[in-house]
Amino acid sequence: MQQGRHFLHIPGPSPVPDRVLRAMDMPIIDHRSAEFGELGKAVLSGCQSIFKTSGPVIIFPSSGTGAWEAAIVNTLSPGDKVLMVETGHFATLWKQMAARWGIDVDFLPGDWRHGASPSDIEAKLAADRAHAIKAVMVVHNETSTGVTSRIGEIRAAMDRVAHPALLLVDTISSLGSADYRHDEWKVDVTVSCSQKGFMLPPGLGFNAISEKARAAAKTSKMPRSYWDWEEMLKPNANGFFPYTPATNMLYGLREVISMLLEEGLDEVFARHQRLAAATRAAVQHWGLEVLCLDPAEYSPILTAVLMPPGHDADAFRKIVLENYNMSLGSGLSKVAGKVFRIGHLGECNALTLLGALTGIEMGLSAAGVPHRAGGVDAAMKVLEQRGPTNAPASLKVIRN
Ligand code: PLP
Repeated sequence: MQQGRHFLHIPGPSPVPDRVLRAMDMPIIDHRSAEFGELGKAVLSGCQSIFKTSGPVIIFPSSGTGAWEAAIVNTLSPGDKVLMVETGHFATLWKQMAARWGIDVDFLPGDWRHGASPSDIEAKLAADRAHAIKAVMVVHNETSTGVTSRIGEIRAAMDRVAHPALLLVDTISSLGSADYRHDEWKVDVTVSCSQKGFMLPPGLGFNAISEKARAAAKTSKMPRSYWDWEEMLKPNANGFFPYTPATNMLYGLREVISMLLEEGLDEVFARHQRLAAATRAAVQHWGLEVLCLDPAEYSPILTAVLMPPGHDADAFRKIVLENYNMSLGSGLSKVAGKVFRIGHLGECNALTLLGALTGIEMGLSAAGVPHRAGGVDAAMKVLEQRGPTNAPASLKVIRN
């Protein structure tokens, strides 16, 4: 029997702050009442600050996969050609979904250790003189590999060749943790969900949409009903939904938006960068390899770590769980058994991270994985370089 709080260090779902749990602990209200309309308006406009858009953000009761589907069925038509990049497991799944909808996917191959290359995308678009490619679809933070693609640079590449394709971006594991700018980067559909940087339970999917995406929806020939944006946007104007919304998740969402804005998005992003840098310092000190190869693409959200040859990542994760009551992320599909993933997102601060790294270091010893002791000290040195301000917003409020 394990004592104390479970250390959930998978890269989402991430721990839900107590402040958010308390905000959700509310009686159900009438979703057609004026009171609900106020809640609806507050979360719909609050989301715009987090996505950094002045356009609409649509909230579905769904997981991220549902929001992927909504992006596809509202903007594309069967037979349309799109450009996608094999950054890892989730990019591959999104590609498979697009193919099931009859989309003709040009899937740029990848090694699962790099992000989407802006220059490769530029070359493909430059060669597409007839503008057959209707959309570029990219995963911002590839959760299976801990690699973050440079969306701003991808947009600049698209602009350089003046290609009119839509830009669809999966921010399922990055929004609210990594710098992201829907309007500035002229993203047409930003897909996200509740259980990662938003620090909520699983259950909400998001589409932030541009004017261009909304115009594309008018000519899209995909069959759709539940996912139809226009059906949503009409009642959303007054804070309502065309069907029963996930009321108590929305109470939680309102609280999370307040927390993120109280801490300040820039500080939230900087905190994630510090925690990620400390994690990599520990991994490198242990003598293990970070899966991501390009420092410009290191993920602030998670670190995927390669196991030394002859050591199984899942056996190691099992030992950590059984001995130290901590869940680490597994390797997915191509890298199953070869990597484990350390989530350092959302409600995470210096001390929770150091606790997690301590559990990993002890787990490496317990599992007989060769490593150099002292990785936690290396992480402490990184965290000490900055003042003691990396507490999550919930703690700051208690102290004030
Ligand atoms: N895209 C990314 C980058 C993810 O990390 C995930 C889930 O972890 C998904 C898509 C699928 O989201 P969901 O499991 O919420 O449907």
